[in-house]
Amino acid sequence: MNILAFESSCDETAAAVVRDGRQVLSDAILSQADMHAIYGGVVPEIASRKHVEAIAALADKALADAGLTRPDIDAVAVTYGPGLIGALLVAVNFAKSAALALGKPLIPVHHLRGHIAANYLAFPELEPPFLALCISGGNSMIVDVAGYTDMTILGATRDDAAGECFDKIARVLGLPYPGGKPMEELARGGDPAKYPLPRAKVAGNDLDMSFSGLKTAAVNLVHNAAQKGEELDRSGLAASVAAAISDELVPRAMEAARRTGRTTLVAAGGVAANKTIRTDLERACRENGIKLYLPPLSLCGDNGAMIGSQAYYEYLAGHLGDASLNAYANLEI
Ligand code: AMP
Ligand code: MG
Repeated sequence: MNILAFESSCDETAAAVVRDGRQVLSDAILSQADMHAIYGGVVPEIASRKHVEAIAALADKALADAGLTRPDIDAVAVTYGPGLIGALLVAVNFAKSAALALGKPLIPVHHLRGHIAANYLAFPELEPPFLALCISGGNSMIVDVAGYTDMTILGATRDDAAGECFDKIARVLGLPYPGGKPMEELARGGDPAKYPLPRAKVAGNDLDMSFSGLKTAAVNLVHNAAQKGEELDRSGLAASVAAAISDELVPRAMEAARRTGRTTLVAAGGVAANKTIRTDLERACRENGIKLYLPPLSLCGDNGAMIGSQAYYEYLAGHLGDASLNAYANLEI
């Protein structure tokens, strides 16, 4: 089954063709990051406009790269949330039109389910059940994936997402947007114990996380140093931030595995590209006898292929949309 999948939830416009949920025939992506970098973050209105400009050409490119023509497409899939509402609406409306024009089913896909499914593309043997650590620019959560379309959130951030934390601290350090990768480069060779940053304890559900205290502490360190004219160990700070974020995530993922008895963990989302987090996850999983899947960096960020993968399983579960499909800024997994 060939699924033509679209994604426009943030600042990447993407179209891909995926066969039977596992085989990527094409994966066309146009990132707007450079456009937003001058503003230090994504400007929703600009994102929407750029998606409108790009999406038709990307659909053609996805088909051409796959060596297919329109009649070869069996279904059309699209991210319908969560994300920036104006941005989401572009691909939702395009996909609805495409499904109607082709006379093929429409499959709505949750963005984070797509991030998790990126692992199906990289690891043919991977099947639920497993735990997923979903860490992106807008979300941070530990999800129990009991089946391809059967998911329960075990813990989630109470405030900022891990990626947002990297991005905001990067901004006060004068690094370009998005700040996760530049922070990782700055952290290289830095002392992760240089600055003592808080590790949150969350009342109620201790698998929930919090990043806003950590973010504020790091931002205050930068501002205080500037006010006092003190020189900051920028590399040490970046390394300390990565260590603190990783400490927020990795032990909770291990605890979630202990409680559920799951023995497989996958990482998902843009922040899963982070070297510190990947290394810490590898060590912790080795120590706890957990099989770990880390998606290749190319599949960590937003892309259309991951949506096409999850769409196949949504289709098998009978989760179809129609011309009344809407987009949702907030959407339960
Ligand atoms: P997503 O929301 O899944 O598209 O992921 C985007 C987020 O991932 C942004 O907040 C980026 O700063 C972050 N990110 C990308 N690469 C890295 C990295 N190497 N380390 C930390 N964060 C990263
Ligand atoms: Mg994303």
